[in-house]
Amino acid sequence: MKVRFWGVRGSIPTPIHPDGIRRKIASVVQRVRAEDLVSAASRERFLAGLPEWLFGTYGGNSTCIETRLSDNSCILFDAGSGIREFAASLQREIEPVREFHIFITHFHYDHLQGFPFFGPAYAPGHKITFYSPVRGFESVIRDHMKPPYFPVTMADTMESDMTFVELAEDQDVHIGVGAVAWRRHKHPGGAFAYRVTEGGRSYIFSSDTELQERDFRKDEANRRFYGDVDLIILDTQYTLGEAIEKYDWGHSSFSLAVDFVTAWGIPKLYMYHHDPSYSDHSIFRNLQSARWYARSLGNDELEVYVSEEGLEVEL
Ligand SMILES: [Zn+2]
Ligand SMILES: [Zn+2]
Repeated sequence: MKVRFWGVRGSIPTPIHPDGIRRKIASVVQRVRAEDLVSAASRERFLAGLPEWLFGTYGGNSTCIETRLSDNSCILFDAGSGIREFAASLQREIEPVREFHIFITHFHYDHLQGFPFFGPAYAPGHKITFYSPVRGFESVIRDHMKPPYFPVTMADTMESDMTFVELAEDQDVHIGVGAVAWRRHKHPGGAFAYRVTEGGRSYIFSSDTELQERDFRKDEANRRFYGDVDLIILDTQYTLGEAIEKYDWGHSSFSLAVDFVTAWGIPKLYMYHHDPSYSDHSIFRNLQSARWYARSLGNDELEVYVSEEGLEVEL
């Protein structure tokens, strides 16, 4: 399966500020030496050698992750502003997919605000199935899109075939050649993590999670969900100090996330739900600190990455 990142910011979309772009350009210019400019190859080398936080950006859209299974089944986690970029990407497909399975972690704005801009929802011949363990969640989704908050309603304008599936306790959803399981975690109002499995490979999407002692417990239900996982995209919105200051706000520190993946033996961690106050440089500093912390725990194998818009990971 392929995992694609379309929205990685938390709380609110955070486009890069013009001043941030100016500072990046100034910083690149200051690094350049005469020998870097002599040929096309040296210029390429110079660009390739720039730090990842400087040459580009981790992205500003709010949460949306795509999973494409090997039979081309399309699973989406959340419909934050990144879902608009996902829809645009479909135009580059030779035969654009027409069926979408959208699992919602919870209904905070940053996880739903892109849906009114999801083109396929308006087009007949497309099929959209929403999933959530929340009873009656169809009206939550429908009610977020109506005047005066938005000019039109879903019922009046969206011509795709739409279904809403309320997930039962311990229900796994079978989609094409894969399956999706879910688990409740701590977040204001409640939120859910999802685990996708295809042919012995699994990954977890766990945004908006305030990790608790109970998530570390090696009980049967936790083992079933967190055991034997190849990769996790996990809420790392805060530093440890911020997590203490913002106790009960529903997010985790990157250091607790490293403890968590170490406890469960998960080999790859993608830091996710970047705080809107963070620049690319501060996110990169947290990445370095998370890597350092993993080594200090003796977890030398752990691979830690920053979730970046446009990134594609093959599992
Ligand atoms: Zn959020
Ligand atoms: Zn939230």
